[in-house]
Formats: sequence, structure tokens, C-alpha cells
Amino acid sequence: MTAAPDLSPGTLPLRPELVGLEPYGAPQLDVPVPLNVNENPYPPSEEVVADVAAAVAGATRGLNRYPDRDFADLRADLAAYLEVESGVHREPEQMWAANGSNEIMLHLLQAFGGPGRTALSFAPTYSMYPEYARDTSTAWVMGRRAEDFTLDPESARATVAEHRPSVVLLASPNNPTGTALPLDTVRAVLDAASRVPGGCVVVVDEAYGEFRRAGTPSALELLADHPHLAVTRTMSKAFGLAGARVGYLSASRELVDALRVVRLPYHLSAVTQAVARAALRHAPQLMAQVGSLRAERDALVAWLRDHGFVAADSDANFVLFGTFDDRHAVWQGLLDRGVLVRVTGPEGWLRVSVGTPAETSAFKDALVEVTGR
Ligand code: PMP
Repeated sequence: MTAAPDLSPGTLPLRPELVGLEPYGAPQLDVPVPLNVNENPYPPSEEVVADVAAAVAGATRGLNRYPDRDFADLRADLAAYLEVESGVHREPEQMWAANGSNEIMLHLLQAFGGPGRTALSFAPTYSMYPEYARDTSTAWVMGRRAEDFTLDPESARATVAEHRPSVVLLASPNNPTGTALPLDTVRAVLDAASRVPGGCVVVVDEAYGEFRRAGTPSALELLADHPHLAVTRTMSKAFGLAGARVGYLSASRELVDALRVVRLPYHLSAVTQAVARAALRHAPQLMAQVGSLRAERDALVAWLRDHGFVAADSDANFVLFGTFDDRHAVWQGLLDRGVLVRVTGPEGWLRVSVGTPAETSAFKDALVEVTGR
């Protein structure tokens, strides 16, 4: 009999920076009111389901072959969608897609980060950013946002000048605060980035871009003049397709070509491409609920404030609210009542996603019960 393999600590050559770490992710609990990961609460309609299923069937007939590595058709469809959504014209060669915008970010860090280089963002922000840096052996620097979660253009400019990063990640609207950045702030960062010796790519993560309030511009408008800018989007939120795993970006052709070097061959399966293209044909219908989610969000912010809570201004499909002496106790109290929110952001705050009207009212009732307000 051979001895059992020795898998005690130290046996596997785990990179030292990974020792003792847990995988990232919010608890996936089966609860009646899941409002913790900023999903779209509305599933695709039966019409969309039928079209997506037919597209998958078509793709399945060709699954003996590898998919189109450069997904030319999907890139053209994504460019056409952005033109309708933001009025900004992009060429297919200026588009890129991957399995969620998480993978897009990884491609960006693989191409532009790496050993001896630095990536920079401004806290509080999306907690995956330092993980992309860690996984690509990129040094990580966290600047600060102001107390109200805005980012002062001059302090952002100074932080870029000080740390000379090769990548700056700006979430707008920001997760977990909901804060959108004015274009002047993005311009200040782009200007500081253009002065970094060796170059610096500025990534504006617009995962929640479609939820922005009227009058809030998209950084897509700045792409034409800034070859070192990348604007990322996702089909996970506004399109309600989190399960399909489709993220994308628009940038200069040179920047996109660099991402093509680091991607794994055939990273976007034929099934994923077919699903995304079928869904894009239904963009207006899939996004029909975006307007009502925006209205629901604004009403939720107003309700929280009326009830004596603090709620951050939000351009996203979630609201950061508080503040609580013991936020874990409030989180647990809500969970005991079937409502799952997220413990994230600065101490004392919680984040709730905008759900259906029924889910929002369950959240409100539970919060009143738990806090007595
Ligand atoms: N960016 C931000 C700011 C996010 O909040 C999220 C998801 N929570 C993502 C990117 C990644 O989304 P996905 O990979 O589903 O596109």
C-alpha cells in the first residue's frame, strides 16, 4: 500500500502572498430576498429565453470546432449597442470582451501591470481591484476618496504623480458607494497619467453605467481623445445577465491589441458569444427595467433619509446606507428576516441592492423592525 500523499502546509509551493487567503465572494445563501450582490432582480422574459435558447442550440451544432477567437461579430454588436446607449461611435476593433468585467480587468492588469509596476485606485472602492493586482504580481496602492466618497481632481492628480502607477482603476459609478465621477475628475487623472514616465492606462469601470442619473456623463465620451483610457462595462447588471458572464470594454485599437496578446486562446466560448449576441438583439427589452430600478433607487434613498439613516447619493443599482454602531448585528437581524444585504464599505455602513418593489418593501419592513426607526 502506498502512503497517503503529504498535504500538510508547506508541501504545496503556494505563492507566499496567497498563504492563508480565502477565495473572494459574498455568501451565496438561499434567502427569500437576496439584495447583496447588485444583481438585476428581473429575470429575462420568455421571449428572450426562447431566442437565447435557439442561439445556444445553433452554437451547439458547431461545438466540435473552437469558437471565433476574436469574436468579430460580438465586438460589432457591442459597438452598435454603445452607440445607441451613449451616442458614442466605436469601431469593432476598439471593443474587447471576456467572461465578466472581472476577466476584462485581469487582462488589463496582465497587459499593463506586472512585477515592478503599480496599480492604483481610491478607497472605498470595489474590493476585487487589489486581487487583480495580487494575481498579476502588481504592487497595489490605495489612494483615498473624500468623506462624502467623491474624488477631488487635484488630490487624484497628486496621488497619480506621487505613485507613478502603470494602471489606475476608477469605478464610476463606484461600488460600494454609488458615486459617479464628473468627467473633469477623469480628465485630471488622464492628464496626470499621461505624464507618468513609461505610460499609464486609466480604466474607468462603468459596470453600473446604465444606472447613472440623467445628466451624469459616461467616460465613453473621452475615448476618442485618450488612447490610454479604457472604459469597461458588463452585461451582468443593466442587462440582467450576471449568470452569462459577459463583460466588455472600449478603448483605442492599440490598447485592445495588447489585451489580445494576454488572453487565453478561445477564452470566450461559442456558447457565451451566442448568448451575448442574442441578448444584445433584445437590449431595449432587457433593459426596460433600468428606468424603474433607477426610480426605485431614488425612492429608497429618500426613504432611508426620511427614516433617519444616512444614504450615499447613488448612480448605481444599490445604496450604501448607515451608519450603525454594530453593522454586523443589523446585517444579521435583516438576514433573520430573510433579507440578505452586504457588509461592505467603511465601518458602520451596509449596502443594499435595488430589488423589485416587493423586495424593497420587505427590506424596509425588516430594517424598521431591526433598528426600531
Ligand atoms: N466592477 C464593479 C465595480 C463591480 O461591482 C462588479 C461586480 N460586482 C464587477 C466589476 C464585475 O462584474 P462582472 O464580472 O459580473 O462583469
